Amino acid sequence: MSLTSTTTLHNGVKLPWLGLGVYKVEKGFEVEQTVKTALNLGYRSIDTASFYENEEGVGKALSESGIKREDLFITTKVWNSQQGYDNTIKAFNESLEKLKLDYVDLYLVHWPVPGKYKDTYRALEDLYEQGKVRAIGVSNFQIHHLEDLMNDAKIKPMVNQVEFHPQLFQEDLLQFCKQNDIQLEAWGPLARGNYLDDPALTEIATKYNKTTAQVILRWDYQHGVVTIPKSTKIKRQEENANIFDFTLTDEDMNRIDALNQNKRTGKHPDEFDYSPYL
Ligand code: NAD
Repeated sequence: MSLTSTTTLHNGVKLPWLGLGVYKVEKGFEVEQTVKTALNLGYRSIDTASFYENEEGVGKALSESGIKREDLFITTKVWNSQQGYDNTIKAFNESLEKLKLDYVDLYLVHWPVPGKYKDTYRALEDLYEQGKVRAIGVSNFQIHHLEDLMNDAKIKPMVNQVEFHPQLFQEDLLQFCKQNDIQLEAWGPLARGNYLDDPALTEIATKYNKTTAQVILRWDYQHGVVTIPKSTKIKRQEENANIFDFTLTDEDMNRIDALNQNKRTGKHPDEFDYSPYL
């Protein structure tokens, strides 16, 4: 297993288990360097969004990398202010241009904006049918959002990207996604670095001669969850990728599961302030 190991989405498209997230990575030099070092280390999956305002830098790094397009997996997302059918098509074309790509591998609805996400998703379905995206999905969708969406959708989402880490082990959502063949993808898998000094995680990490970040990312992988940890530092990018040479015991998996506190670093999708976007 390695950075190029993939999970297969329900439409047959292969998504790497581990990618690089670039939220809050500065546009321009910082994001270009960050993506370049990751690609050099062997990362092939990059997660950006129009909201991050760094798609141009991502695109520049990709085009200068010389890596074959078919070996890359690029995800971007339609932001809340861009939702609705026509706006989404426009937003998609803007993202494509910034990324300097002919197609995107995965296009996601960033948040479930009430009254809009179904029209937004209809645009994603059309982009998919036109071959402009290889897979489509959603982000920050709770079970009730997924159920509501699937009542009308022609194409079941292939991915749901949500905040997910040991303190926010969303077991019901994970099971629901597995039952429905929707790949769960963890954002903020390291809880933005907030509890990497947790004593239980530290004890487990010491046992495997790994870091707590590696233990968390391995825990995701063993739960069948894709991760996209962010780091601008080459050492940490390397560390985060080095999770395929050890296996957590069932006992340690259970211990990490038990760290759940339903604690978020971001907003709960049902409590997010959608009012500017309605
Ligand atoms: P993360 O959990 O990946 O944490 C990143 C932070 O953890 C870094 O800034 C760094 O401070 C620290 N870190 C990283 N590797 C480390 C290591 N090995 N040791 C110690 N500290 C380390 O948080 P994130 O960036 O918020 O999430 C990852 C990606 O998920 C984002 O970059 C973005 O692509 C995506 N995301 C999506 C949404 C969404 O709404 N869909 C929201 C937030 C993030």
